[in-house]
Amino acid sequence: MKRILVTGGAGFLGSHLCDVLLNEGNEVLCLDNLFTGRRKNIHHLLENKNFEFLRHDVTMPLYVEVDEIYNLACPASPIHYQFDPVQTTKTSVIGAINMLGLAKRLKVKILQASTSEVYGDPEIHPQPESYKGSVSVTGPRACYDEGKRCAETLFFDYHRQNKLKIKVMRIFNTYGPRMNPYDGRVVSNFIVQALKGEDITIFGDGTQTRSFCYVDDLISGMYKLMNSRDGFTGPVNIGNPVEFTMLELAENVLDLTGSKSKLKFLPLPQDDPMQRKPVIDLAKKELDWEPKVQLREGLEKTIGYFDKELASLVE
Ligand code: NAD
Ligand code: UDP
Ligand code: UDP
Repeated sequence: MKRILVTGGAGFLGSHLCDVLLNEGNEVLCLDNLFTGRRKNIHHLLENKNFEFLRHDVTMPLYVEVDEIYNLACPASPIHYQFDPVQTTKTSVIGAINMLGLAKRLKVKILQASTSEVYGDPEIHPQPESYKGSVSVTGPRACYDEGKRCAETLFFDYHRQNKLKIKVMRIFNTYGPRMNPYDGRVVSNFIVQALKGEDITIFGDGTQTRSFCYVDDLISGMYKLMNSRDGFTGPVNIGNPVEFTMLELAENVLDLTGSKSKLKFLPLPQDDPMQRKPVIDLAKKELDWEPKVQLREGLEKTIGYFDKELASLVE
């Protein structure tokens, strides 16, 4: 039995990861400062004797004993990471240093939840891991993008300097149950708006694209990466390579919810990437991984979740 640290464990992805790790027979130490995470996401785990919750900020040093570390702590939605941008960079950079220092002292493997945002507003399409990216250094998204880029640099320097075992995963847009309904990300916004009969907010003309991965697929890729062969560090793209425009996403949500909501066009936020789609050949080859859940199936499950979630907020 391994004792595994999950930072950001009360968040959307982290809570699903805790579920999988516990089901595989591990002990889980879930660390979170509850900035964007919610106790509700881990409520069902609190009675599990193999689960422990620790309220802590990754920008502070941490002295615990664990066998493996998944580093997910960081707000992920633009409205949240831009709320206190300095704190976002600190979380990514100082958080990475502390977790790498912990991994170095314990001589344990550590996985970093990096992001497709390291590619910025990409000039090549689709994006392979070899693409170096096009990030606006001074723009409003930079606190997140540059913070995550620096975290990757730290991971590779600790690997070279201290022989640390690292795994770096570049996550593309992921959605599913336990997203915060007011998180501001496009899938949750559209579904909540459709279910409430409110206008669907399309930023720009809606022709920008994203490739959406269902949460179960993403977490299986993360688990496979952590358990991949020694010496394989990544970075590796994990995402669903089927690309949609935001207009197509809105049409699918309207169709599946049967909602009469109208589209409302709002200005495109500064530096918003126009297109994004992963090349996943490396994940297929090294991890024998590819996504299984396609958009409509994943949206149906997510709509079912938000339906219940909104009803419980009204009660
Ligand atoms: P989330 O906001 O639901 O989860 C992040 C968690 O980190 C939250 O529980 C939050 O409270 C916690 N946190 C934030 N700052 C912290 C700090 N200083 N100390 C301790 N805990 C802190 O977002 P998510 O979608 O679950 O994202 C998880 C990770 O995956 C993030 O690192 C994010 O950058 C990365 N990622 C997610 C996506 C996606 O589409 N969901 C895409 C790319 C990368
Ligand atoms: N650290 C931690 N827990 C540990 C070991 C280290 O939180 O068990 C933090 C500590 O704050 C330290 C950072 O990780 O500053 C980096 O550690 P490292 O050993 O790389 O560097 P140093 O201690 O020399 O600064
Ligand atoms: N978006 C939108 N309406 C919304 C929220 C987002 O049209 O209510 C757009 C946003 O401008 C971006 C895409 O949807 O082009 C994905 O946004 P999200 O914040 O989910 O993820 P990210 O931009 O980080 O990929």
